[in-house]
Amino acid sequence: MKTCIACGMPLNKPEDCPNGDMNAESCVHCTDSNGEIKSCDEIFEGGVHFFMGATGSSREDAEKLVRKNMKALPYWEDKGTECLEGEIATDEEFKAALGKM
Ligand SMILES: [Zn+2]
Repeated sequence: MKTCIACGMPLNKPEDCPNGDMNAESCVHCTDSNGEIKSCDEIFEGGVHFFMGATGSSREDAEKLVRKNMKALPYWEDKGTECLEGEIATDEEFKAALGKM
């Protein structure tokens, strides 16, 4: 399954992709109107809101989940992950959160 390189979201349908382009590497949430992938800060913030809404987590817990999620993606490895510094959810916490979605 194809997933967004910046946030890991599955790209299953045109609505998930910028301009409905299924060949895109990143999802509609991670791509700006110029077709560029957004900054780490912006994607992190979007992810925090997503996890808070999807799992009912507190902001603090959602931040830990997003750091865990984004740090697992090769895309951010060579981009510098200063914006992802901080506490990270454990595998168990991450699995538990996914189970609530
Ligand atoms: Zn994305």
